[in-house]
Amino acid sequence: MNVETLIFDGIVLKEVLYNDNDKILTVLTSQRGIISVSAKGVKSIKSKNSSAVQLFCYSEFEILKYKNRYVLKTANLKDGFYGIRENVEKYALACYFSEITCSFATSENDETDVLRLLLNSLFVLAKDDTKPLWLIKSAFELKLCCICGFAPQFDYCAPCGAKTMDSSPKNIYFTFNDSERICEDCFLKKEDGKSTDCVKLPLPAVIAVRYVIGCPINRLTSFTLSDESAPKFCEFCEKYLLYTAERSFESLKFYYSIQKV
Ligand SMILES: [Zn+2]
Repeated sequence: MNVETLIFDGIVLKEVLYNDNDKILTVLTSQRGIISVSAKGVKSIKSKNSSAVQLFCYSEFEILKYKNRYVLKTANLKDGFYGIRENVEKYALACYFSEITCSFATSENDETDVLRLLLNSLFVLAKDDTKPLWLIKSAFELKLCCICGFAPQFDYCAPCGAKTMDSSPKNIYFTFNDSERICEDCFLKKEDGKSTDCVKLPLPAVIAVRYVIGCPINRLTSFTLSDESAPKFCEFCEKYLLYTAERSFESLKFYYSIQKV
């Protein structure tokens, strides 16, 4: 039988247990995107691979490929992001990041930028307590859409073409049904009694959206927003992701259920 040995760096996005000691891992790799890896014996306390194949672990995987199946040979831990496990809200947010990454990233394609985005965000989540969770969450949601080819158009008003000025005192509207950014004047003209699913963004939130769209991944969380503008920015990022994905996510419901406790 033709067996190929491959070496990947990757993050464990999901684990499903089977038999007594085995797992099927969903791993995000840079070169092959999302792959499913059969990991035998890793639940056993005798397994030398067990610590490197836990959820959210960033590891180097040595994998054997038979036909279209990937089987784990060895795994060496690079970062376990253990800070995430010490806080239930952080843990819930990391589960959400994993689920939306599974939904947006592809298989058998290069997903280097998605891997970098997830690594960067897990790092900030686990190790940087100066960043609020809403900022890490929203920036991840919007940047994931952008990297996967679904960046919102935020440079000009769709109906009239007026450019977004970073100094304009007027609000900007974004309608999710049409995925359009609209200036205040056009929005008020357009409002003919029909209700549109839209969010009204004050100028600081617009600047934050444009920042996240254009910034390098390693500067993703290097911005701030006032308590007044932050909720609108968060609302936009979450809704934009949900509209783009065209589905809901159980892990997002879990994240909100924890916040109510
Ligand atoms: Zn306009």
